[in-house]
Amino acid sequence: MFSKILWIGWAGDVLHSIEDWIRYGDELRRPLLVAPNLADASKICIVGGGLSGLSIAYRIASKRPDVEIEILEKSKRCGGTIETWNQNGWLCDVAVNAARPHPAFWRLVSDLGLSNLFSGSNPKATTRWVISGNNKSKLSMLTAIKMGPLRLLRSIRSSRSGGTSVADLIPNSSIADAMTLGIVNNVANHVDADFLVPALTRFGNEPPLKRSHIIKRMNKTYPMFTPKKGSIASFEGGMQTLIDALVAHLEKQPNVDFHYGQNCVDPKTVAEARGVPLSSVVWCGPLTRKSDQFTNLDIYVAGYTVKAASNVPLGYGTLIPDEDIPMSGILHESDVHQSPRAPSEHRLFRIMAPCNRGGDEESIRASLKQHLCAEDPVLFQKIGQRKIPCYPPGYMAALDSESVEWTRAGWFYSGVSVTHVVAEAERIADLF
Ligand SMILES: Cc1cc2nc3c(=O)[nH]c(=O)nc-3n(C[C@H](O)[C@H](O)[C@H](O)COP(=O)(O)OP(=O)(O)OC[C@H]3O[C@@H](n4cnc5c(N)ncnc54)[C@H](O)[C@@H]3O)c2cc1C
Repeated sequence: MFSKILWIGWAGDVLHSIEDWIRYGDELRRPLLVAPNLADASKICIVGGGLSGLSIAYRIASKRPDVEIEILEKSKRCGGTIETWNQNGWLCDVAVNAARPHPAFWRLVSDLGLSNLFSGSNPKATTRWVISGNNKSKLSMLTAIKMGPLRLLRSIRSSRSGGTSVADLIPNSSIADAMTLGIVNNVANHVDADFLVPALTRFGNEPPLKRSHIIKRMNKTYPMFTPKKGSIASFEGGMQTLIDALVAHLEKQPNVDFHYGQNCVDPKTVAEARGVPLSSVVWCGPLTRKSDQFTNLDIYVAGYTVKAASNVPLGYGTLIPDEDIPMSGILHESDVHQSPRAPSEHRLFRIMAPCNRGGDEESIRASLKQHLCAEDPVLFQKIGQRKIPCYPPGYMAALDSESVEWTRAGWFYSGVSVTHVVAEAERIADLF
C-alpha cells in the first residue's frame, strides 16, 4: 500500500510521498529506529506491553497473520504507564487521560470498534491557568502576543540550528515552563525543542507541500469525527478502555502470545533466549536510562460537591511552574471529559505532585485549599506514582546516530504522547 515510500538506508533518511505526509503529518519528521530486516522476520519479540508494544503487535498481527509475535512484559498486566483508577462512581486516569488530534489515533480507535466510547473533550472546558508567584492568570492568545511576535519569530528561527531547549524557543519563561510542565512535567530549559515541537524547529524532512495544505488534507482523513483545533478526546471508562480492547483483540489472534513477568535484560539476551535474530527484537521499554533521567510524580485525586467547588471556574486546568508549591498541575477531570468521572453533583480534580518538590499529603491538601478550593474535599486520595522520561536539549538529534541492530519504539523514541506512539506503530507495520 505504501510502496511509494522510497528507502535509502534506514528510516531517518527516507523520502516520503505526499500520501505519507497526509497520513502521518509531522510524525514523519521523527526518526523511525527500525532494524533493516525486521519486516523479513517470521517471528518477532516485542519487549513491553505498554501502548507502544500493543499497538505494534496489533498492527503487524492484523496485517501479517503468518508472523509469529511474542509480547514479553515485565509486570503482570499490560498498559504500562496507562491505567485507570475507579472507585464508587469516581473514575480517573492515573496517567494519560486524553489524546491530542491525530488521524493515526482515530484510526486505531475506529479499527478496534471503539467509536461509540470515544468523544471529543468538553468545548466549554478549555481554559488553562498558570500560577506564578501569588498570581493566577489565564493562558491566552493575549499572553502569546505579550511575548512580542517578532521576538518569538526570531527565537523560532534561531532554534532551527538544532539542539535548543524549549526555553530558547519561547521567549517567556512562565509560558514556556507551563507548556513543558503540561506535557513532560519538566521546566522548559531541560526539554529538547526538536523532540517536543519538531514542526516549529523544522527538524527532519520537510513536507513536499505547504504544511497548511497537508494539515487541511489530513483533516479530511479522520474516521468517526474531525476534532476541533486544540481539542482533545477521551474514552468512556478512561484510557484503560483502549488497553483492554487491544489486549482482548490480541488474545484472540492465533499468531500472538503474551508472556508476563519477563524482566528482559537487553535485546541480545532476548534474541538468544527466544531463538530469533537480534533484528527481530522490538524494544518498547527503557533501555539504558538511569533513574535520574526521569521526573517522578505522585498522582492524587480530589473530589468536591458541585456546591463546595462552585467558586472553581469550569476549565481544563492549572499549571504551576513555581517549585515552592508542591503541585505542578491540577486537571479538571470532570469538566474536561464528556463521559462521567464523578458521581452526580460532584466534580473531580487530578493533581500532579513532582516528588522533587517534596510535598506530602498534608502539604498538598493545604496547597489545594489555597490554589483550588477553600472547602474540604469529600475525596482525597493518592492513586499512583508515575515517571516521565526526561528529553534534554539535543535528545532528538542524538537518536539519528543510534545503531539499529534491533528496533526501538515507544515514548523514549517516538515522541512523548500517545499519538506519537500509535502513529509510530502504524509506520512500523507499513514496512511489512
Ligand atoms: C502522568 C502522565 C500523564 C500523561 N498524560 C498523557 C496524556 O494526557 N496524553 C498523552 O498523549 N500522553 C500522556 N502521557 C504519555 C503516555 O503515557 C505515553 O506516551 C505512553 O503511555 C507510552 O507508552 P509506551 O508503551 O511507549 O511506554 P510504557 O507505558 O512506559 O510501557 C512500557 C512497558 O514496557 C514494560 N517494560 C519496561 N522494561 C521492561 C523490560 N526490561 N522487560 C520487559 N518489559 C519491560 C513496562 O512494564 C511497560 O508495560 C502521560 C504520561 C504520564 C506519566
